[in-house]
Amino acid sequence: MKKILIIEDEKNLARFVELELKHEGIETEVYFDGRSGLNAAIDENKNWDLILLDLMLPELNGLEVARRVRQTSNVPIMMMTARDSVIDRVSGFDHGADDYITKPFAIEELLARIRALDRRINIESQKNEIKQTTLDYRDLVVEKENRVVRRGDLIIELTKREYELLVELMSNQNIVLSREVLLNNVWGYEGKESETNIVDVYIRYLRNKLDVKGEESYIQTVRGMGYVMRT
Ligand code: CA
Repeated sequence: MKKILIIEDEKNLARFVELELKHEGIETEVYFDGRSGLNAAIDENKNWDLILLDLMLPELNGLEVARRVRQTSNVPIMMMTARDSVIDRVSGFDHGADDYITKPFAIEELLARIRALDRRINIESQKNEIKQTTLDYRDLVVEKENRVVRRGDLIIELTKREYELLVELMSNQNIVLSREVLLNNVWGYEGKESETNIVDVYIRYLRNKLDVKGEESYIQTVRGMGYVMRT
């Protein structure tokens, strides 16, 4: 968390929270009503990491601010409220709040909540990154996070080098990779002409494991050039 927007009409509380966050090295801005707070919240140039949002605010209440922020942004929102009824919690979450803190609160509790929210967001974004590390080619799938290669439902056992060669080819679909480039990227050798036949050997191993008899190979040979997985 580097930039936190505070929308709170109790000026003493707002200033106190701001001071404590600044002390933690966090950049802050404070707004004392819902409307100016909303404008700051949806300002794309501000890049907030979190919005601390009071529930009872002049001009626009916190629920309405949260609802409108959610129309354009996924920024985490922590609601602050003097009330602690189940109804408030539910409606706060319905309107897009990510967490909830009841006033009066100790600043340590707020900081702990912010850290917890930060961790949760980081875990979520890591999960999303993992999702993006799946490679597809025809009915081949590589799940990079657990190094599993499947053809349809069938899991294909590959050695470390075969796996890395396949990932290199699948990550560069439609690009012809020369033996020298593959040797360099997969084996880490500088392309020495004499050693490039190692690539041909491993392509053959891969084809033996991946290909289905009578069907076109997953890896195409481009004569005099190298290899490619062409879509
Ligand atoms: Ca208030």
